[in-house]
Amino acid sequence: MPELPEVETTLRGISPALKGEIVREIRVRNASLRWPVPDAVQQACGRQVSGLRRRAKYLLIEIGSGGLLIHLGMSGSLRICSDEDAVRKHDHFDIVLASGAIVRFNDPRRFGAFLWWEAPAEQHVLLRDLGPEPLSDDFSGEYLWLKSRGRRGPVKNFIMDGRIVVGVGNIYASEALFMCGIHPSRAAGRISPARYRALAAAIVDVLERAIRHGGTTLRDYSSSDGTPGYFAQELLAYEREGLPCFRCDTPMRRKVIGQRSSYYCPGCQR
Ligand SMILES: [Zn+2]
Repeated sequence: MPELPEVETTLRGISPALKGEIVREIRVRNASLRWPVPDAVQQACGRQVSGLRRRAKYLLIEIGSGGLLIHLGMSGSLRICSDEDAVRKHDHFDIVLASGAIVRFNDPRRFGAFLWWEAPAEQHVLLRDLGPEPLSDDFSGEYLWLKSRGRRGPVKNFIMDGRIVVGVGNIYASEALFMCGIHPSRAAGRISPARYRALAAAIVDVLERAIRHGGTTLRDYSSSDGTPGYFAQELLAYEREGLPCFRCDTPMRRKVIGQRSSYYCPGCQR
């Protein structure tokens, strides 16, 4: 599933083709995505893309007084192509630019989204309840500590809650908790400010490294340079059940927390 680093990589991959360009045409081949693709997306036609940004895992393409919103869902990807490239199975929509470049969306499972928003995007129903970006100044150990007061649920669920902080997916939560030695089942409300500072730093570190590597689960994103995700080779905890901990040699364990597999070391995570 595309996580924040994959979405950030996708944003960087498609930005050069879109920025400042005029949208010539929006072609919707299959409107049955997670939500039906609305006719409103046609408002993009004939107008210039003024900017692109990411909020959580949403790609926001700014056009006039609003813009297009794309979510990759479970299996979505975007690629840059032209009319010479044959349409493949699961290619659901195209953003055709005056330059001739086409931003093409492919999504076998169709959990992705393609919507229109009116400014300010932050008030959109999908965006308004989101917590801060982990790579912004609004995110810190102090912030996590304050938000965690009185919370008895596992810290892993707490940091994966998009209302607390966005973009900490299952892989990155396991990695960050391993890096700072916090047990994933520990009650969020029973962690010191100092340990939350270490956790916030670990979250930032793991996400930045993943972005540098183009993400973990990226398989078919093909930008102009076709960068795949190599970060999977660097994982310290995720899917290492039974293997020795890199820090203390104790066999790593897997435990289901909040219906998601969590990987941790029983020897050095407390
Ligand atoms: Zn260990």
